[in-house]
Amino acid sequence: MLIFELSSQGKRGYQLPKLDVDEIDPRGYLGEYYREGINFPEVSELEVVRHYTRLSQLNYGIDTTMVPLGSCTMKYNPRINEELANTELLKNIHPMSPCEYIQGVLKMMYHLKELLKEIGGFEDVSLQPAAGAHGELLGLLMIHAYHKDRGNHHKKIVLVPDTSHGTNPASASLCGYEVITVKSDKGGELDWEDFQRKLTDQVACLMITNPNTLGIFERNIKRIAQALHERDALLYMDGANLNALVGMAKPGDWGVDVMHFNLHKTFSTPHGGGGPGGGALGVSQRLQDYLPVPQVVFDGKEYRLDWDRPKSVGKILTFYGHFAIMLRALLYILSYGSELDKVAKYAVLNSNYLKHLLKDLFIDPYEETSRMHEFVLSAQNLLKYEINAMDIAKALLDKGFYAPTVYFPLTVKEALMIEPTETESLIYLESFAKALRDIVEEAKKNPKALKESPTKTPVRRIKEAQANRNPILRASWA
Ligand SMILES: *Cc1c(COP(=O)(O)O)cnc(C)c1O
Repeated sequence: MLIFELSSQGKRGYQLPKLDVDEIDPRGYLGEYYREGINFPEVSELEVVRHYTRLSQLNYGIDTTMVPLGSCTMKYNPRINEELANTELLKNIHPMSPCEYIQGVLKMMYHLKELLKEIGGFEDVSLQPAAGAHGELLGLLMIHAYHKDRGNHHKKIVLVPDTSHGTNPASASLCGYEVITVKSDKGGELDWEDFQRKLTDQVACLMITNPNTLGIFERNIKRIAQALHERDALLYMDGANLNALVGMAKPGDWGVDVMHFNLHKTFSTPHGGGGPGGGALGVSQRLQDYLPVPQVVFDGKEYRLDWDRPKSVGKILTFYGHFAIMLRALLYILSYGSELDKVAKYAVLNSNYLKHLLKDLFIDPYEETSRMHEFVLSAQNLLKYEINAMDIAKALLDKGFYAPTVYFPLTVKEALMIEPTETESLIYLESFAKALRDIVEEAKKNPKALKESPTKTPVRRIKEAQANRNPILRASWA
């Protein structure tokens, strides 16, 4: 029952002691903000407790079971990082504090910056962007500044592969660039011929994800960087999939000029609820001068915020970025230490094992190519039973699992994009595969029933387009 329905006049959930001061009428203070007739529910303490406990049980997240959303890296975030990031002392530091009062904080930021430089193989890093897409915007602004500085006024094009995440072309357009799509080849990698054809002098940069959103490693990455550099174009790497590489390979070594790290994906900040996040940006020497202000610097004795950067593109966020997210990333990296490569190794192992468990259930459009931390399958083989990828996703909800990413990347029809991450154990991978096996069985035997799913969730199947335009947010469940 809704809390409003439990309400009846005069019920109280609290007991205050008798007033020992004069009673006043708050209306005098509220003025124009005072309104009559707001029907707050009047309920008992127990009813309030039950209401909120029930709401908390409707939550679905990594704390209840796996979230295999491809490209999102929904891994488990160690509790200790949360606890430390919530330390009163750190939480309450004023952003305008003078540097000499916050040496410890600056040291942590500096230390993280140095670690990210090492992990990514970059010349320098900015911790300022608030998310991946924000890092993309900053990276493109810097690329723009670089070309402007060199008189490259003709460079108006950004190339993106057809498998790219939607934020890539969006960021490029936002920056005023024309976006041209490069095809991928049969094996799922960037099509070298098509890339060659489209790489004209007008190209400012290519934005590539590696491994790409199909979970496939772009083996031509060095050759791609070289071809771009020969034309004074730059290489942007979308680093959202770094979970597949962290501690194993450094994008800077391949000739990548700029890459955003998704601190909230690879380095364990909880995400999925809309932020805050961290999109630290690593750059090669070519772009170093254009980094935003301020940069945390260390002269061997003291940490300071350096605002004196004449070529900087300016600021991209208020103050210095999301410090608590940086702190979590620092803690995460330090606790793995020299074993950080285990993250990538287990992420790739889990993904490949799960793909193996599912191989006879769906179509693997890239059977010949090896996959890294995630993989994309096609549910096209079930269309003959009138079951599509969305039906599979909805049926998984009834089995107690979160659905994978569906219908992305666009190059795969009826795509199911699955990323289990390294934090799932064998037992969860196997029960997830079993759930999908049961669903496929049912698709063949009783597809009508499957179309009804989900039946066990508080909100059943929604009309997605209509729900976006006309959201009704008052639930009728419970
Ligand atoms: C998540 C993701 C992004 C965007 O990152 P946000 O932090 O959500 O802005 C960009 N590219 C890829 C490949 C991603 O997976």
